[in-house]
Amino acid sequence: MNAVVVSADWVRARCSDDGDCLVWNLKRGRSGQPVYHFVVDGTSTTKNVRPLAWKAAGKRELKPGEVLTMGVCKNPACLNAAHMHPTTRAEVLRRVSQAPSTKRTRYAAVTKANRAKLAKLTIEDARYVRASDKTLAELAQELGVSIQLLSMVRRGERWPDPDASHFVGLGARA
Ligand SMILES: [Zn+2]
Repeated sequence: MNAVVVSADWVRARCSDDGDCLVWNLKRGRSGQPVYHFVVDGTSTTKNVRPLAWKAAGKRELKPGEVLTMGVCKNPACLNAAHMHPTTRAEVLRRVSQAPSTKRTRYAAVTKANRAKLAKLTIEDARYVRASDKTLAELAQELGVSIQLLSMVRRGERWPDPDASHFVGLGARA
C-alpha cells in the first residue's frame, strides 16, 4: 500500500534538468536514490521518490517484487520515468551474484578467510595449544581455527600467557 501520491509537477518543481535527466535537488538515500520526508495522517514517513515519479508519469503499476532501476542513464538521482526500467528484485540479485568480481563475491571470500583467522581463542585455549602434543593440523580441526593462527599461538606471538610473563628473562621453566 502506498498512501503517498505526488504529481508530475510536484516532482519537476524539485528537480533540475541535466540533459535528458531530471535530477532530484533534495535529500538522497543510501543508494543515491531521491528520498522525501512526507507526513501522512500525522505520521512522518521517508519515501523513495522514484516509484512515486514513475506513477506520476502515468506508467503502469509495478508488480509485487519489482523495483525500478535506472536502466538508461544509470543516475540514481534521476526522476525521468522514461529512464526507469522495472526489474524484479530477484533479477537484480542474480546479476550481482553472477558478476565474477563484484564486491559481493570478494566480500564473501574475505569473510570466509577471516572467520578462521579471527575465530575466538581464550587464554585457556592458548595454554592448551602450547601444552598439547597434538599436531597443529589436529588442533586446528579441533578448535576450528587456522593452522597459521595456532602456529603463532605456539610461538607465543598471539595470546602470550600473562601468568608466564613474570618468568621471562629469569631462565625459569614451566
Ligand atoms: Zn536519467
